[in-house]
Amino acid sequence: MGAEARNEVRIQDPRQTGFVLMNERVSSGSADIAHVEPFEQRHEPGADELRSLFQKEVQAVRRKEARPGLWIAVAIYLLFSATDLLLIPDVAVYTITARFVVGVTALLTLEAQLRRGAATGWLDVTCAAAIIFGYIGWLCPAMGGADRESVAYYMVFGTIFMMSANLFFTFSFRVSIVTSTIILCILYVVNYFVPASLTYKMVFGTFYVSCFTFTSYVNWKLNEERYNVFLNALEAKIQHNEATERGRALLRLSRTDPLTGLENRRAIDEKLRDYWSDWQKLGNGFAAILIDVDFFKKFNDCYGHQEGDRCLIQVANALSEMIKQYDGSIGRYGGEEFIVLARIDKKDQVADLAEAVCRTVESLAIAHELRRDGISIVTASVGAAFTRKQTAAKLEKIIHEADRALYLAKASGRNCARLFDPTDPQSSDESENLAALLKIAIGQNLVSLVYQPIQDVASGKFEAVEALMRLKMLDGTLVPPSLFIPVAERTGAILELGRWAIRTVCAELLARDHVRVVSVNVSPIQLKTPGFATSVATILGETGVTGNRLAFEITEGLEMEMHSDILRCISDLKLLGIRIWLDDFGTGFAGLSWLRLIDFDTVKIDRSFLHDCGTPKGMAMLQDIIALVRNRGHKILVEGVETEEQMALMRQFGIDKVQGFHVGRPAPAASFQGKRAIQKRPFTILKSA
Ligand code: C2E
Ligand code: MG
Ligand code: MG
Repeated sequence: MGAEARNEVRIQDPRQTGFVLMNERVSSGSADIAHVEPFEQRHEPGADELRSLFQKEVQAVRRKEARPGLWIAVAIYLLFSATDLLLIPDVAVYTITARFVVGVTALLTLEAQLRRGAATGWLDVTCAAAIIFGYIGWLCPAMGGADRESVAYYMVFGTIFMMSANLFFTFSFRVSIVTSTIILCILYVVNYFVPASLTYKMVFGTFYVSCFTFTSYVNWKLNEERYNVFLNALEAKIQHNEATERGRALLRLSRTDPLTGLENRRAIDEKLRDYWSDWQKLGNGFAAILIDVDFFKKFNDCYGHQEGDRCLIQVANALSEMIKQYDGSIGRYGGEEFIVLARIDKKDQVADLAEAVCRTVESLAIAHELRRDGISIVTASVGAAFTRKQTAAKLEKIIHEADRALYLAKASGRNCARLFDPTDPQSSDESENLAALLKIAIGQNLVSLVYQPIQDVASGKFEAVEALMRLKMLDGTLVPPSLFIPVAERTGAILELGRWAIRTVCAELLARDHVRVVSVNVSPIQLKTPGFATSVATILGETGVTGNRLAFEITEGLEMEMHSDILRCISDLKLLGIRIWLDDFGTGFAGLSWLRLIDFDTVKIDRSFLHDCGTPKGMAMLQDIIALVRNRGHKILVEGVETEEQMALMRQFGIDKVQGFHVGRPAPAASFQGKRAIQKRPFTILKSA
């Protein structure tokens, strides 16, 4: 039973569990899952296959053991020449000659066979023949010995030949049995003729049969045991291989992004550490490139998450194909963000690679119809940084720098690549300091508001002021908003600063009715943040100001994406009575589509249009813009009125409101804190404020 039963048990083993589990995990995603290889399904060998595997292995062992086995056997056989001389001296010369003839012939034959690569079966036959002829070669001359009693005793040694056929050599069971049976038969023939008593013949014959039976049985058991050992070893080997493979697969999975098949953040972070230590120890510089798929949330909203996944897979495949030329690594850093690491640190090369990344994504031409910046395919913004000799270099810094560059790429209209430039104030350490300063700005009274009047053109009255934020450093130096506002937006500090600005406006000017309306600049980041409208309502409630005293200016600037959260927030703010103005109209990318989506109370036309009015082309442009906004039914405010001529032009064009140095420069709250001071105060005083 042994072998077959074991085989059945093995076949019933539930060995595919790991494969099934992992496979389910991997394929539970919504779109096509790329690259991740599950465990290999285990091959189950059948009984015949196992037998033949066993035979192959046993044959290999027999082949290896045939030479030393026969040499040892022949050596012992020849040593028995000594007993020939002692027990049967009269015929010893014949037996010894026979021993040498058989021994040498057998060894020569085997060596020749081994040299010619004869089949293992033939090696067995040679060894078996050596046993049989060795037996005959010794027995026949010994029979002729004069001392019959000695011959009779000496014949007992014949069992050694039987034992060597069954136990010493590892013949196949069949060859062992045939050999030992021949020896048994020869013995019976000799036993018949040997001149001994009947008792001797019976005892001797029985001993021979017992010996034959016993050694054959042990031989059979040994063969079976060998097969079992083989099966166990095979099973252990398979299990070991499986465990190794499963370990490898788990490691692969733990380091692979299941959607794209790229390395995941953990793996790429490890690689980044390797690159970094190479740079530190060997001076091998490298570049880190961050890639962000533009307007991906919008893509998901428009086409659904399955398409979104497919888009990411396409981008991942194209980039990993492209990156091969640069011997780089690519990983998914999270969401729609990828990272590329490459062993290049020359500015031009890094710029080329970053540009190539951009163009690769663009060339996929995946449709993205609903983005609002005039491009209708999927593109990516790319930020790159590379190792430079600098003090206090840190691993995180290079990613931070790439992140800054990515931010600039987005700010530059996306679908472009930017390299981190340490001399750029936007990306330098200065902005790091600014970020730290912004955190303590409110607590340390470093931030304040100034107000710039807004005049109604028809009535000449100052009907509102715009609140503009000011920041000073600890030493009192002023930081322009063009520097600190982007940093505040990037770091999220704008949320707290924005709330502080609204509260201050309400408390400083509106609560005590110094000014009728104040417009406050609000960043899209604030509008996107859940709870913003509620926090405004709370401030209004706390300061006792009604919503219609506030206007929020939204700039169609960097953050062009018109998020559904923004639209919802705007409608909540409108419910509070707050007016929504569109700031700097004409400078961004999305102004027109914003006009379509949001019912702005007032549109502020950017001052660059007024300042370009010196040329007929510029004048025509301004008129066109005015006509466009007017046709949409919004009130028009023109920014940057600096001269009386410009003011006259505004009157001529029938503009509703104006703002600019000619009307009044930004001034602190104190300038407006007489009751309705703004309406009574001549603008000349304000100008000097
Ligand atoms: P903005 O909202 O378009 O503000 C008008 C900017 O134009 C102000 O610059 C103002 O000083 C300047 N300005 C006004 N009249 C004239 C003029 O006749 N000629 C010229 N050349 N410039 C004029 P400022 O104060 O440097 O602010 C720059 C920008 O910073 C603002 O542009 C606004 O986008 C942003 N900002 C200012 N305060 C805040 C705030 O509290 N929150 C947010 N989110 N952004 C703010
Ligand atoms: Mg403004
Ligand atoms: Mg403006």
